[in-house]
Amino acid sequence: MEQAAIWRDDFPALTQEVNNRPLVYLDSAASAQKPLSVIESVSQFYRHEYAAVHRGIHTLSAQATEHMELVRDKVCTFINASQREEIIFVNGTTHGINLIANTFGKQHLAQGDEIIISEMEHHANIVPWQMLEHTLGIKVVVWQIENDGSLCLDKLRALITSRTRLLAIAHVSNVLGTVNPIQEITSLAHQFGVKVLVDGAQAIMHQHVDVQALNCDFYVFSGHKLYGPTGIGVLYGKKALLDTLPPWEGGGSMIQNVDLEHGTSYNRVPWRFEAGSPNVAGIIGLGQAIDYLLNIGFEQIHQYETMLVNYLYKQLQSIPSVHIYGPEVRAGVVAFNLGELHAFDVGSFLDKYGVAIRTGHHCAQPLMKHYGVTSMCRASIAIYNTQQDIDTLVTSLKRIQTLLG
Ligand code: PLP
Repeated sequence: MEQAAIWRDDFPALTQEVNNRPLVYLDSAASAQKPLSVIESVSQFYRHEYAAVHRGIHTLSAQATEHMELVRDKVCTFINASQREEIIFVNGTTHGINLIANTFGKQHLAQGDEIIISEMEHHANIVPWQMLEHTLGIKVVVWQIENDGSLCLDKLRALITSRTRLLAIAHVSNVLGTVNPIQEITSLAHQFGVKVLVDGAQAIMHQHVDVQALNCDFYVFSGHKLYGPTGIGVLYGKKALLDTLPPWEGGGSMIQNVDLEHGTSYNRVPWRFEAGSPNVAGIIGLGQAIDYLLNIGFEQIHQYETMLVNYLYKQLQSIPSVHIYGPEVRAGVVAFNLGELHAFDVGSFLDKYGVAIRTGHHCAQPLMKHYGVTSMCRASIAIYNTQQDIDTLVTSLKRIQTLLG
């Protein structure tokens, strides 16, 4: 507990009251709060170091460019990519997946080809592929989940055909907290020449991600779920594969030469995929967030969060009217419903007690359909949460049950 209290002090937003109660923030899977060091790095950039990058010859511009490119190196080491060119800065997970849909799709998919996604995907890892169904005539095949929220590899094997080109899969489910066995999934997919894109939005804050060990072809995550700024994210891709992809968004920075008569030639990877002025402040804040986490160490984070999420699960289980969805072993989140009460009512009442959770379909409507509900409550934890936060949640839920049940 002591350790969490130290980390908690790093997050200024957590000291406030909401509805005259101390804030209990259990919505980090939607977006994590920011440590002071991240806030200050962004502030410092805007106060003293701000300039547009890449195109300037003056000192501030050159320094900002260098700073931004150093963060690319930092991300490369952070996820153990094999070279810095494999790191593409995007707006977030959604942007990264759309980038692959619009480039890999254009280059490597033809009418009748198939993409497999799982039933537990976030809409960000469903809709871009469905859009390709309309534009390219491909087929999206769904890997159904088991009732405990896990995925069965034998079922995946049965879904792969000679037309399967890509498997797009969450590392961790944003609703169930299921940690998917990416290494095994990748190994199976590769036996059939199927490329694998991993949506790492919910995994990146909870565990050390090693893209070479996972052997995935693409890995995507958002900075704002990693204690960093909004509007920045990372798309990792194997260099040899990225080199085969055409550009998607056109504009400045992604070109080599533009000629009105002879057309345009494009920049090298990764800049080919970074059209326009990048979110430099976001990139710098992301670099600081990575430093912050590495300073704590993922071993310690994992150990602490495992204890906390198990405690959350057990405490929720102790309320007789609570129904929990998903496996017992999970990362970061617990989704549940309180008796017959609508999740929105539960969430609104919790807010009155200063407790912030997420309610609704969690951008995973197919998963809601699987469980026969339209909405769920979801409590999610981060390094700054304590057992006391969970006790407050549970006490408040019991009060709500008495009031409304
Ligand atoms: N994928 C998963 C599993 C998520 O949880 C989220 C956000 O909640 C996303 C994708 C989309 O992330 P973003 O909105 O940052 O692009």
